[in-house]
Amino acid sequence: MEEKELQQLVEGISRSSFKKDFRHRALFNPRLRTTGGRYMLGSHNIEMNPAQLELFGKEEFIKIIKHELCHYHLHLEGKGYRHQDRDFKKLLEEVGGSRYCKMIPGARRQSGKRHIYVCAGCRAEYVRKRQINVKRFVCGRCKGRLKKTKTFFRENID
Ligand SMILES: [Zn+2]
Ligand SMILES: [Zn+2]
Repeated sequence: MEEKELQQLVEGISRSSFKKDFRHRALFNPRLRTTGGRYMLGSHNIEMNPAQLELFGKEEFIKIIKHELCHYHLHLEGKGYRHQDRDFKKLLEEVGGSRYCKMIPGARRQSGKRHIYVCAGCRAEYVRKRQINVKRFVCGRCKGRLKKTKTFFRENID
């Protein structure tokens, strides 16, 4: 399937199952390793894993698109768009989306947590999945000391 077809497929499902237009972009992202799809809170785009289509077929693929469209429409309407929200659960059931994205065999799920450090010398920023021992590690550019600034959770929704 080409990206143009994916875009048309998502627009079509949005119209037929949600009675609403999908006004953003649907893209393939081969780097999505563990999940079938993802809704991007910042850009409002939907990214789909091409492996999902190959592994589980079109029917399952469409259920995942519906899942992502639930995030999409609820988020844009200011309703509960997260998995644990009532609005999300209700809409998902109505349109028959998949509750979970099927895991890609052999793929490990990553935590969305990120740690951010800033160099006290040159202000370079380091984003790491794991915590750094700041007593042992220094800035790669200037050998300055690193200081932890914050921890955040990945913003996008699977
Ligand atoms: Zn530095
Ligand atoms: Zn989801």
